[in-house]
Amino acid sequence: MYYLIFFLALLLGSFYNVVGLRIPKGESIVAPRSHCISCKTTLTGLDLVPVLSYVFLKGRCRHCQKSVSPIYPLFELLTAGLFVLAPFLMGWTYELVVAWTLISMLIIIVISDLHYMLIPNKILLFFFALFIVERIFIPYLSITGHLLGLVVGFLIPFLIAVISKGGMGGGDVKLFAVLGFVLGWELVIFTFFLSSLIGMIAAVIGMLFGKVKKGVPFPFGPSIALAAIIVYFKGEALLHWYFSLLY
Ligand SMILES: [Zn+2]
Repeated sequence: MYYLIFFLALLLGSFYNVVGLRIPKGESIVAPRSHCISCKTTLTGLDLVPVLSYVFLKGRCRHCQKSVSPIYPLFELLTAGLFVLAPFLMGWTYELVVAWTLISMLIIIVISDLHYMLIPNKILLFFFALFIVERIFIPYLSITGHLLGLVVGFLIPFLIAVISKGGMGGGDVKLFAVLGFVLGWELVIFTFFLSSLIGMIAAVIGMLFGKVKKGVPFPFGPSIALAAIIVYFKGEALLHWYFSLLY
């Protein structure tokens, strides 16, 4: 079962690469078919096998020999890894549907944010609609609990964005709102603080390696995504542990 999920998630990850790279540019996700960005040759058959094609072709295009970004297989593997991790951590419950939806949304957002510094509204709206349906059938809290999460998830980063005058992008604020709906108000506040911490650590590491420059904005989406994944799977346990240290 795990192998099957891993394999299917590799294919999904390869599709999410396409979605994350094309939606922000307003391009169709079905046409044109995937092609090499250097020589424009349409990829066929074996070229489209996730990860393996990258390994066998040693990261190069078969036609023009230009190197292909390792970002593609990386996100395919990340998608597959997280898809398998979910049932491993949660067991085989209906909530898995929500977990896989959340992972899917975050993967696409990270790809898009890393490339364009943009979290597209289309992606957020699509997944928000999906989460509404899922939370009606697979609730974690009461419906008012989920709606309260939506409001809190929007307000906290929104106020920070207003106070810091653009220290946080509009896409980040909307992403927190969707996360608030999925997680509830307590866990979305936790996600907010954890993502700020991860973002600061990422900025310091980025500065050390010369990738991040002072005063130049860098994508916050990946930090939010990592925090959301940690909090979704381990948030309650971490909160328990934290409060047991206090009292
Ligand atoms: Zn090529």
